Amino acid sequence: MDNCIFCKILAKQLPSSRLYEDDHCTAFLDIRPVNPGHLLVIPNKHAASLAELDPDTGAQMFRVGQRMARALRGGSVRCEGVNFHMADGSAAGQEVFHVHLHVFPRFAGDAFRVTLGSTLKNSPTKAELDAIAEKLSANL
Ligand code: AMP
Ligand code: ZN
Repeated sequence: MDNCIFCKILAKQLPSSRLYEDDHCTAFLDIRPVNPGHLLVIPNKHAASLAELDPDTGAQMFRVGQRMARALRGGSVRCEGVNFHMADGSAAGQEVFHVHLHVFPRFAGDAFRVTLGSTLKNSPTKAELDAIAEKLSANL
């Protein structure tokens, strides 16, 4: 895709600190890391959203993510835990429209926070959960 920064990184038209590549996926460091070692796993073939992503490539992205998490825990960066994060759609916080899996190390006292809105503090009833599950199942 002509205007996609991640396609440009794949084509080496833009620089990146690459740490892994195979036939389907590439991993490189995020330029605005949550913590040192924060990396992105992306498909080699452009897909703007999960809906466009071939499921086998999605599975490979997760495999690579697991391998990257093991590397993060290998002792070269501070890593007491690992978060995976994927934003699909701008409402979810997606800023780069080439699918990417964030993999980043965590440690006690780091600055990363996930904040929940006040509505999330209300627990739905079992009946409400069941009704939502039934409706979602219809879309599988
Ligand atoms: P998201 O909000 O999930 O779409 O995240 C996009 C991520 O891409 C952000 O964490 C950015 O720091 C990262 N990013 C943007 N441009 C580059 C780049 N040229 N090289 C590496 N990471 C980038
Ligand atoms: Zn792209």
